[in-house]
Amino acid sequence: MPALWDDIFQYETDKVLRIQSTNYGTIKWILHMIVFSYVSFALVSDKLYQRKEDVISSVHTKVKGVAEVREETLGSGLKKVVHSVLDTADYTFPVQGNSFFVMTNFLKTENQVQGLCPEYPTRRTLCSSDRGCKKGWMDPQSKGIQTGRCVVYKGNQKTCEVSAWCPTEATEEAPRPALLNSAENFTVLIKNNIDFPGHKYTTRNILPGLNITCTFHKTENPQCPIFRLGDIFQETGDNFSEVAVQGGIMGIEIYWNCNLDRWFHSCRPKYSFRRLDDKMSNGSVYPGYNFRYAKYYRENNVEKRTLIKAFGIRFDILVFGTGGKFDVIMLIVYIGSTLSYFGLATVLIDLLISTYSSRCCRSRVYPYCKCCGCCAVNEYYYRKKCESVVEPKRTLKYVSFVDEFHIRMVNEQLLGRSLQDVKGQEVPRPLMDFTDLSRLPLSLQDPPPAPGQAEEVQLLSKEEPPRPSSSPSWCQCGNCLPSQLPESQRCLEELCCRKKPGACITTSEPFRKLVLSRRVLKFLLLYQEPLLVLDADSASSRLRHCAYRCYAAWRFGSQDLADFAVLPSCCRWRIRMEFPKSDGQYRGFRSPY
Ligand code: GDP
Ligand code: ZN
Ligand code: ZN
Repeated sequence: MPALWDDIFQYETDKVLRIQSTNYGTIKWILHMIVFSYVSFALVSDKLYQRKEDVISSVHTKVKGVAEVREETLGSGLKKVVHSVLDTADYTFPVQGNSFFVMTNFLKTENQVQGLCPEYPTRRTLCSSDRGCKKGWMDPQSKGIQTGRCVVYKGNQKTCEVSAWCPTEATEEAPRPALLNSAENFTVLIKNNIDFPGHKYTTRNILPGLNITCTFHKTENPQCPIFRLGDIFQETGDNFSEVAVQGGIMGIEIYWNCNLDRWFHSCRPKYSFRRLDDKMSNGSVYPGYNFRYAKYYRENNVEKRTLIKAFGIRFDILVFGTGGKFDVIMLIVYIGSTLSYFGLATVLIDLLISTYSSRCCRSRVYPYCKCCGCCAVNEYYYRKKCESVVEPKRTLKYVSFVDEFHIRMVNEQLLGRSLQDVKGQEVPRPLMDFTDLSRLPLSLQDPPPAPGQAEEVQLLSKEEPPRPSSSPSWCQCGNCLPSQLPESQRCLEELCCRKKPGACITTSEPFRKLVLSRRVLKFLLLYQEPLLVLDADSASSRLRHCAYRCYAAWRFGSQDLADFAVLPSCCRWRIRMEFPKSDGQYRGFRSPY
């Protein structure tokens, strides 16, 4: 149980690297200031501390105005001009949704009764004989069902006879100028109630005390809810008389941007207009906006109708907008979402460090890289910051040759090749850590050398030793011995201390003083286990293993590398000679993973 509690009551934090640098410190503060200014600006200007809600609304409209229309009618064969006055009931129609329609132009077909009559002549309906018509045929474009006869329409024009409301409607262009051109002067009153249920706030566009005889004007009277139709078209840059001929669709936008905070309260509508239909009336297939309706009546007990094709303008009222009110949760969410932007400085400075420590900068191939000093600094930071780790595989090995400054990393299956021949990848040798060295009991006196021994060592390290015939072909120092391991693992131990022929590392002073010195090794073992008692049996093997580690630590520097470091054959056998095993059967290097 206590272990579980220990797991729960613990806290992990990141360890950071603090770089003491005026440049980077300045960059950091500048970026933080920019981010902070932006975040605060966005917070205030977009009111991101508010909870926003979409508006819910209802609209009611009233169109007012009277128009005089001059109509030409064909009454008993004679053309007659009639002047009639049209009021609201004549030209507005209820349309579903937040819309209203104002008729501006129309085509009338009067006195229609059910019967048989020829179609209005068009390219599609003209015929020369009954063969051109088909009984029972119904064209979606036509006005009735064909009887199969071809009859005279007027003069020598013959068209197919149809069973329909007769006479059929003439396919004519809309009158120009529009019959209700004066609809321009009509006015519309828009009543708009809005609600923000979440904020429990309701209001409307017509407040008590508003002068109801006003007319909307964008700058002079922007709150007036009464609009002259002609003004609306002027606002969008359209010509009313032009649109009136074919009809069109106009949007009236009411935008509510409400700030419901007590200290900045504002909630008034903004009106704007937008032409919503296809403006290119010449190019489009069905220009404008029109529909047909009929007025039915009975005359002499016969049902008759007047068909009207009405052209006009549909006004769509679009109400949108939001209401916002201060909300602590929104503020916290916003602050939380902006915190990540403060990481921008880290990203940018890290990027600078890694780019200016890159190889291209170091190699000074680019003459424009003037800041090679800064490259060196960045490289230093980068080294401090970055620790790369190689996957610890069975195949991973490190090799160090005494005649090469770098260490080689071999990360492959050897497959019969001796380790000496594998090229591997160069890795920098870790720099020497003198603090470790100071712990070594170098002050411990070596036993007095046997006469002549010191000179012998000197001689060996200076001169190239004669290559004994017994040393294997891959050996360059002459002191290596063939491996004892089974055939399959043998290549692992086929490694010399040198890449090119020369003196053996075992003849060097540090090797003798560090790796072979019984006193040093004993001290190191005691350093680890102060009360260690070395009996004769274990002493040799413990000292041998300690000597291996000692060599690895000396030649490979860091513990990471030492774990995978392979000893050259000469060193391995020199150590084994010094600290032998009684049966002479050594197990050799085993990968720790
Ligand atoms: P043993 O004493 O019979 O086990 O045989 P060895 O004298 O070969 O010692 C084996 C121990 O030394 C094992 O723990 C090995 O991992 C280690 N060892 C042997 N050779 C090497 C080597 O080349 N590099 C490293 N790092 N360790 C080695
Ligand atoms: Zn050798
Ligand atoms: Zn050697």
